[in-house]
Amino acid sequence: MRIILFGPPGAGKGTQAKLIENAFEIPQLSTGDMFRAAIKNETELGKKVKGILDSGQLVPDETVVDLVEEALSDPKFSEGYILDGFPRTVPQAKAFDSLLDKADEKLHAFVSLEVPDEELMKRILSRGEGRADDTPEKVKVRLEVYNEETAPVLNYYKQKGVYKAINGLGTIDEIFGRIKAVLNSNKK
Ligand code: AMP
Repeated sequence: MRIILFGPPGAGKGTQAKLIENAFEIPQLSTGDMFRAAIKNETELGKKVKGILDSGQLVPDETVVDLVEEALSDPKFSEGYILDGFPRTVPQAKAFDSLLDKADEKLHAFVSLEVPDEELMKRILSRGEGRADDTPEKVKVRLEVYNEETAPVLNYYKQKGVYKAINGLGTIDEIFGRIKAVLNSNKK
């Protein structure tokens, strides 16, 4: 199964992606994790994107798409994957469509975690992951960037008929239960 796990910063994408990964045995691919690893390992990519992640802005589309294309060529993703944090702009979504077309593959579900804005800031500031971009100023920028550049991705997938809305409020288990129900009914 090929799944996009979508939602604003603080919606719980990373947590839910790991649960889906374990329960459905589908590997997760997180562009944010890849960028953070590159920064930690001080690779060329890491040097290029460090300032961007620190500011809360988005990495240029071309850089992200190239990274995803290369990562997805790993045979471990041949049976499917969960994308966490990608696509984050409409041009990325279109580029991803081309990648799927080229491989003659299709997307099974676009799972959208829906959480009200006021809850997001609260969650991020209390999660204590020690991320450099988890300060109130940076979170504000990330939410603005989300609303301007990323939210339009929702409409793009709504038109494609793969959009599944998930109420992102409640306990981790409750939210995961809703995702499981949607993915299980999708398998049939
Ligand atoms: P995340 O862990 O998904 O919140 O991503 C952390 C940061 O990595 C974001 O604030 C962006 O700077 C960068 N990033 C991750 N995924 C993308 C993407 N698909 N497009 C552009 N920038 C991204």
